[in-house]
Amino acid sequence: MGRQKVAVIGFGIAGAVFALQCQSRGYEVHVFDDFKTETPSKVAAGIINPLSVSRKKPLWCAKEFAKEAWRFYSKWDTGFTYQYPMVMDIKNTRLQNEWSSSLAEETGFLNWSDDHSQLEINYSGWIDTELLIESSTNQINYYHRKRINDLEELEKSFDYVVLATGKVEPEIMGSQFREDLFRPVLGDLLEVSLKESYPFKHLEGLFVIPQRIKDTYILGSTYIHDFDKIEPNPERASLLVAKAERQGVLITKILNHRTAVRPAIYDRMPIVGQIRNNLHVFAGMGSRGLFHAPLAAKMLLDSWEGETISPLLNVSRSCTK
Ligand SMILES: Cc1cc2nc3c(=O)[nH]c(=O)nc-3n(C[C@H](O)[C@H](O)[C@H](O)COP(=O)(O)OP(=O)(O)OC[C@H]3O[C@@H](n4cnc5c(N)ncnc54)[C@H](O)[C@@H]3O)c2cc1C
Repeated sequence: MGRQKVAVIGFGIAGAVFALQCQSRGYEVHVFDDFKTETPSKVAAGIINPLSVSRKKPLWCAKEFAKEAWRFYSKWDTGFTYQYPMVMDIKNTRLQNEWSSSLAEETGFLNWSDDHSQLEINYSGWIDTELLIESSTNQINYYHRKRINDLEELEKSFDYVVLATGKVEPEIMGSQFREDLFRPVLGDLLEVSLKESYPFKHLEGLFVIPQRIKDTYILGSTYIHDFDKIEPNPERASLLVAKAERQGVLITKILNHRTAVRPAIYDRMPIVGQIRNNLHVFAGMGSRGLFHAPLAAKMLLDSWEGETISPLLNVSRSCTK
């Protein structure tokens, strides 16, 4: 028997991670991407954070996902992986106590500074996602710059077809899946120059990430559930600037403002698995695509070899019938 052929539709973070793993397991992988510019993957800030900061606790299987993510990205890193702990200033005593008695502390995710005014989150860091996608494009043997409008053709000529399109339309998912599967969330990031140099930090409702180009930083991000247009809006930029300045981050210039929509699922976990016959989904990465994609890709590939996908990720959890 020849090599099994896999069509991966979409080459954002999810498609890139999945296609590379699939290719390295010996499948003949063909990628199809319509090459849009402002996709969430190209806009993404790039943070890998295993914690829910608002709940002060690790995400589900946080260590497993984070370890696999760093192992995977570091393996072919060509200068896009920055595994540095994210720093948070915790000046308020009540907050210090809350973090000290949190599940994040109990499970070994926190390192405190000597005076307890700062903490570092273990297994965190960031990835330059544009470089990640560029670098992975070069490693894929069959890359087709093309929009797929008709799945039927691919379903006939490939052994597996994988939808890594971010959001998947209800008509493709089929009537057995809940219609409100996706709860897209719009987000803005600002590329700025700052008055003084600044480390990789998580502030209150805001993060700051130093960039490749000297004195350039990413500030983010907004989370808007109710929106009409996907475009930068000066009001939202002002909100981010005001938030930064209130916390002592002084901006000298806004260099760029980028906006995209996170393909989030109602329960904030990706959807992974078989939809029907040879059609599979690897989507719904929400606001944590970099964190979830490497281990989730492994789970989908293992399922083709007979393993079971955890019910927390399995697309079957979204069936209504
Ligand atoms: C402002 C903002 C900040 C973010 N920050 C972070 C962060 O710090 N860390 C993090 O992990 N995540 C972050 N995210 C979320 C992250 O962007 C997503 O989790 C991730 O990009 C989803 O990747 P994806 O590959 O599933 O989807 P996408 O990026 O949407 O990729 C899908 C690809 O499929 C292509 N496509 C779609 N339909 C077709 C078709 N019919 N034919 C061919 N091609 C098609 C699209 O053009 C696209 O290239 C952020 C998102 C936003 C908006």
